Amino acid sequence: MADVELTGDDARFRRDVSDWLAEHVVGEYAELKGRGGPGDEDIGFDVRVAWEHDLGKAGFIGLGWPVEFGGRGATLQQQIIWGEEYARAQAPARVNHMGENLLAPTLIAYGTGEQQQRFLPGILRGDERWCQGYSEPNAGSDLANVATRAQLDGDDWLINGQKVWTSLAHVSHWCFVVARTDPSSARHQGLSFLLVPMDQTGVEVRPIVQITGGGEFNEVFFDDARTEAGLVVGEVDDGWRIAMGLLGFERGVSTLAQQVGFERELDHVIELARAADRCEDPTLRQRLVDAWIGLRLMKWNAMRSMAAKGVPGPEASISKLFWGSWHRDLGNLMIDVLGPQGLVGDALPYELTLEQKLFLFSRSDTIYGGSNEIQRNVLGERVLGLPK
Ligand SMILES: Cc1cc2nc3c(=O)[nH]c(=O)nc-3n(C[C@H](O)[C@H](O)[C@H](O)COP(=O)(O)OP(=O)(O)OC[C@H]3O[C@@H](n4cnc5c(N)ncnc54)[C@H](O)[C@@H]3O)c2cc1C
Repeated sequence: MADVELTGDDARFRRDVSDWLAEHVVGEYAELKGRGGPGDEDIGFDVRVAWEHDLGKAGFIGLGWPVEFGGRGATLQQQIIWGEEYARAQAPARVNHMGENLLAPTLIAYGTGEQQQRFLPGILRGDERWCQGYSEPNAGSDLANVATRAQLDGDDWLINGQKVWTSLAHVSHWCFVVARTDPSSARHQGLSFLLVPMDQTGVEVRPIVQITGGGEFNEVFFDDARTEAGLVVGEVDDGWRIAMGLLGFERGVSTLAQQVGFERELDHVIELARAADRCEDPTLRQRLVDAWIGLRLMKWNAMRSMAAKGVPGPEASISKLFWGSWHRDLGNLMIDVLGPQGLVGDALPYELTLEQKLFLFSRSDTIYGGSNEIQRNVLGERVLGLPK
């Protein structure tokens, strides 16, 4: 807990970021207040990219990364303060969660100096966006079943195969791809973690329209796609270790950034309940309070994992299980607060309200990043030591 105590510096930091946000969330950025979150990713994308550049210039990307990697080395408390102020300012939703919060910590933990120098600055400037090429038609929960192949061809890896559910692949410059580099291997062995440029003829991205009407994720086909031989993170054939290290970041501490959006959504649900005079309904009131408590628990747990430092272990599954279920329940609560009118669309089939989009998108929270069932398996087997 000592790591997260308030200091005078923190009060100054809060003032500084709150002033900066007040000064900068104006004009077209202010028009996107509260927009671009789950289920709403297509909204104002170009403006949000410009916003990302502004954040980069002002040093608000990579806040918690160590200074030697171009970050600010901000303390835990400062990262939380930034999140709180960001939510309060209703600044537009970010566009490069996977670059900043998943790939960058993975490169810092496992990448070579050359890879760090090449890729971290592009993320810090808000110039290079990343997507995650893990899942395939026959490798979701069972990720070790990856069938995408990569073989060395001169100075390049030649990649063939298909990924699916690749979030934001259509707007990404790079993809981190788990591919089988030892053709004679099976399961977790013989996989490598490759960094692959998206802008090439061997990569085809096909959007998938989701229940929200938006196309947040995609199928990605690799047909003799290429990447440089040196763009493998960790050892060749040891990609499983790197892929799992990244999932630790995805399931654990990176949720601090996500909680910024959760906070804003919960505030919105509470406003809706007040506006509809529904706070006196004891059942609804109990659910609102439960949601509020859940968010505090999430925050304290994320802080605890961050204070522990290093690559998060299987305990990150607790965090994923908790936030996935919490956010799905918030989606339900949002629609219940609205009552029957929440079910009426603005213009069918797909002019949905923000609340409806959130409700529909939140059905996926217990699936992506590892489903609830899989998290329970991990906790049962690897944390509690129960039999398979
Ligand atoms: C919105 C969204 C965004 C996504 N973004 C990405 C992305 O950017 N990149 C990426 O690589 N992937 C992404 N995914 C894919 C996601 O990681 C997979 O959907 C997830 O891992 C589950 O795999 P699956 O869909 O193949 O389901 P399956 O693995 O086929 O599972 C189907 C059902 O069976 C259950 N099940 C499976 N195995 C077991 C078991 N051993 N024990 C108990 N129950 C089990 C699962 O819990 C689930 O309920 C995204 C998914 C969603 C919904």
